[in-house]
Amino acid sequence: MKSLCLILLAAIPFFTFSQDNGTPAEFQLEKSETEAHLRFLASDELQGRRTGEMGNNIAARYIATQFEAFGLQTAPGLDGYFQPIAFEAVTPPRNASLSLNKTTYTQGDNLLILTGNADNLKTEAVFVNFGWVDKESGHDDYQGLDVKGKIVFSLPGTPDGQDPMSVFNSMKQKRKLAQEKGAVALIELYRLQFPWPFFRSFFDKENLSLAGEAGENSSKQDIVYGWVKEEKDGNVQQMQEGKKVKASLMSKGFTRRVVYSQNVIGIIEGIDPELRDEYLLLTAHYDHVGTGKNGGGPYTPQDSIFNGARDNGMGTVALISAAKALSIDRPRRSVIVLAVTGEELGLLGSKYYSEHPLIPLNKTIFNLNSDGAGYNDVSYVSVVGFGRTGTDALVEAGVNIFGMDVFPNPAPEQNLYDRSDNVSFASKGVPAIQFVPGTTGFDEAISKYYHQVTDNPDTIDYDYLHKFCQAFARTARLIANENGRPQWAKGDKYEKAGMELYGDE
Ligand SMILES: [Zn+2]
Repeated sequence: MKSLCLILLAAIPFFTFSQDNGTPAEFQLEKSETEAHLRFLASDELQGRRTGEMGNNIAARYIATQFEAFGLQTAPGLDGYFQPIAFEAVTPPRNASLSLNKTTYTQGDNLLILTGNADNLKTEAVFVNFGWVDKESGHDDYQGLDVKGKIVFSLPGTPDGQDPMSVFNSMKQKRKLAQEKGAVALIELYRLQFPWPFFRSFFDKENLSLAGEAGENSSKQDIVYGWVKEEKDGNVQQMQEGKKVKASLMSKGFTRRVVYSQNVIGIIEGIDPELRDEYLLLTAHYDHVGTGKNGGGPYTPQDSIFNGARDNGMGTVALISAAKALSIDRPRRSVIVLAVTGEELGLLGSKYYSEHPLIPLNKTIFNLNSDGAGYNDVSYVSVVGFGRTGTDALVEAGVNIFGMDVFPNPAPEQNLYDRSDNVSFASKGVPAIQFVPGTTGFDEAISKYYHQVTDNPDTIDYDYLHKFCQAFARTARLIANENGRPQWAKGDKYEKAGMELYGDE
């Protein structure tokens, strides 16, 4: 009897039954419930769910309420389903101007001050090359220069890198160095490849970062930091030659404030005593970009709300649906259901969780993340990271059973894998993939809605949403029930991180 029991038990995990009609709960999810979730989350009333704003908090509350209704457990250390996160929101000054000898630069025109206020400051301008200091190599662009109380001008980037990434990544550090050296402002010279108006509209809006990380000088006065598009007035050349250049600076309306948002997290305990200490992490970001200027795309007085029905209402509904299906028929492994905030502002919510996990990351065996720009072919679910984690057959089974195919790794030129929350976990070593609404490439059908005010609930194919959500829940179940754990493919760029996280197993 005992051995027969064991055989039966071993078979059960692959066919966990719900009480009523013998098929797991993902098959019984209703189209109407998936539609209702999306119509709420992407409604105008939620104002584009921008991190730090009320619409975002209402979306979080809605998700938490669903988790509560499904009976999800709260994560260790939390009172409820919220993991609170403090963000620092920085808004560039409204008015600013800079004069160099006789030339005046004006904010929004040929000047973009990003941080700091200044009240009619009159001083001198000093050229500091890249404004870079590297203690290891001994490189110091400030050597021999007196910049105390002065405005320093620098080339973009660092001595080692002038590509856009190096330029963006060095901004904060260069500002800090200038401040340490006693300068009152750092202005970088705009000598980048892409058009100035694009750069300006990208930065000239509220920007958020994790509050802890921006840290160092938030308590102190910020020095003025910004960019200038040079006029042909010879001033920079004079600075470079060490000649005196008179400078004055005014900057008004810069604000730095702390705003709050939250990840929403619930736990479903696995039924297999051998495997329930291993966790499958399901994620989807529920935030979007907000309204008006903050949306980053064109808008009109008639429609200025970036509803984010596709991005990432669909993924959020898939997550809620999986939470329901997996809590009704629990899988063998435990499941973390995590709706993250702050994705649109730099993957901030997932980054925060990966730094402050509530279940240790080395017990987290996989991350199935749902996100997408939209869809252009409803016969597919697209999977970014297909071929990289040993889960292909399970993913295909989860998708095929609802009459769809997997479209592997669409739009490779877009580097989608490293642009969504899965990368916050992959970079820590957790094998991860992105479950994306049917996208075969970034064509017009995608760009028509991607980060546009038109991405609203009236333009959604609800039959497809329903199947997409079912497939997501099914795929999650198959991975959570599988005997073996997902593994990075040999030579994958995150394989080493995986070995470090889990130890050489
Ligand atoms: Zn997204």
